[in-house]
Amino acid sequence: MDLQKLAQARILALAQYEDGWRPEHLLSDGNFKLQKGRARGVLNVGLSLAPSDASGVLDVCPNSTPECKAFCLFTSGQSI
Ligand code: SF4
Repeated sequence: MDLQKLAQARILALAQYEDGWRPEHLLSDGNFKLQKGRARGVLNVGLSLAPSDASGVLDVCPNSTPECKAFCLFTSGQSI
C-alpha cells in the first residue's frame, strides 16, 4: 500500500465522518461493472471496505500478504 495515499485517505475519511457523513447503503450496485449483470437478469452488488488493517481497527484480509498489500487497488481508481 502507498502509505502516503493511505494517510491521505484516512485524513479525508475522518474529516468526512466528523462532518457527519455516513454511507446511505453499505451494498451498492452503483457501478457500471456491477450493473452489467442486469442484462442477464442477475443482481450484482458490491461492498467496499478498507483492506487489510488500513482502517486501524481490524484486519479484514486475514490472508493478505505483504505483496498483495503493496499492490492493493485500495487507493487507486475513483473510489476515494
Ligand atoms: S489485495 Fe490483499 S490487502 Fe488488498 S483487498 Fe485483496 S487481500 Fe486485501
